Amino acid sequence: MSHGNSQPKTADIVIIGAGVMGASIAFHLAQRNPGKILVIDKDHVGSGGSGRSSALIRMHYSFPPEVQLAVVSLHVFQHWREVVGEPGDFRKTGFVRIVHPNESARLKLNVEMQQGLGVNVQLISRTELKKLEPDWAVDEVDLAAYEPDSGYGDGAGVANDFLSRARDLGVTYLPKTQVTAVRADGGRIRGVVSDHGEISAPVVVTATGPWTRPMCQNAGYDLPIENEYHQVAILKNAPAMKGGGCACIDSVTATYFRSDGQDKFLVGDFYGQRGVDPDNFPQRASDDLLEEMIERACRRIPKLENAEVMRGVTGVYDMTPDSRPILGEIPGMDGLYVCAGFSGMGFKISPAIGLVMAELLLDGRAKTVDIAAFRPSRFAEGQPIKAEYEYKDD
Ligand SMILES: Cc1cc2nc3c(=O)[nH]c(=O)nc-3n(C[C@H](O)[C@H](O)[C@H](O)COP(=O)(O)OP(=O)(O)OC[C@H]3O[C@@H](n4cnc5c(N)ncnc54)[C@H](O)[C@@H]3O)c2cc1C
Repeated sequence: MSHGNSQPKTADIVIIGAGVMGASIAFHLAQRNPGKILVIDKDHVGSGGSGRSSALIRMHYSFPPEVQLAVVSLHVFQHWREVVGEPGDFRKTGFVRIVHPNESARLKLNVEMQQGLGVNVQLISRTELKKLEPDWAVDEVDLAAYEPDSGYGDGAGVANDFLSRARDLGVTYLPKTQVTAVRADGGRIRGVVSDHGEISAPVVVTATGPWTRPMCQNAGYDLPIENEYHQVAILKNAPAMKGGGCACIDSVTATYFRSDGQDKFLVGDFYGQRGVDPDNFPQRASDDLLEEMIERACRRIPKLENAEVMRGVTGVYDMTPDSRPILGEIPGMDGLYVCAGFSGMGFKISPAIGLVMAELLLDGRAKTVDIAAFRPSRFAEGQPIKAEYEYKDD
């Protein structure tokens, strides 16, 4: 699709990137009718990390504002039709967090903190876990956190739904349009340059996932985002597996997993490879790496051993030094906002991120959840986020 001369020359707000974040920001801004909003993507909606996401939805975080963002988002996932006007893909399977046995005390403190923030979560013993998931081998587990209301969703679906509702509300979407530079002078953003021409705008949001660092370097600001390559396996359930079941993040096997419908199962890895080019990474997963990861997951679910690998999914995380997102205005560059660095965890908080970014843009401050800790300058200030009861692999 080509825009040629049809690309608008001005906008009030330009959002670069039509992943779950850009689409959610557009949707939430459009509710408040703040003028002419453009969403630009070099490819198409959901074509970045969003369309490859394992899309686990859980509330278990060690940093309270992340818990709050997840809680606000879960409510949206649960009421997708009322809020967004589409059926939605949220699957409530329940979720279990397993930590290293020597971190059980932290798990307990984090669960107390989460309960205080309204999360439906409880600590369960090994015996209760075995009852909940009879197929799991849980001999070394002391305690686990169980969230009955959590589950998983669909990244491409969420990005599509948010964007199409935003378009109904008047937002303009320009796919296949690459932003090649941002225009600024006197410490103020003036707009963007795309491969179809210039667009002047007083506010620009870069929601560009693993492409964000060069985008902000272009505006003279270096954000410490590093790209990390990850692989996910989709398996056909082994004949003896009952299907369904809880999603899980398991520090002991360094894997996460969930059902994928009734007949499939998804396994993902804690480990990835740094330094990958988001425009040129292997699209085909490595059989050896998948096998090694599945072997680890088999220590938790022995029946997976006989499960056939149907396909691999590959994708890129945008990692920050503290594995938390970067949200806010770029210091010294009025009007340029960043919303990136989700470190492989953004899907589940995307509804709330759109809301708080819209508040930040229109009200000068995020009201629903305090996001000041996520400010872009925190690394330069030597203040990365460190949660009180952080896990070693948080
Ligand atoms: C394999 C994998 C598994 C994951 N699993 C989970 C999970 O279980 N739970 C969870 O919560 N999160 C998970 N995540 C993370 C989550 O999917 C991401 O944090 C989230 O999708 C990021 O969305 P985004 O909108 O920030 O970025 P993206 O979806 O990457 O979107 C960025 C967009 O910007 C566009 N763009 C970039 N540069 C330009 C430019 N110059 N001009 C125009 N457009 C541009 C791209 O085309 C792209 O569409 C996973 C991610 C991956 C890769």
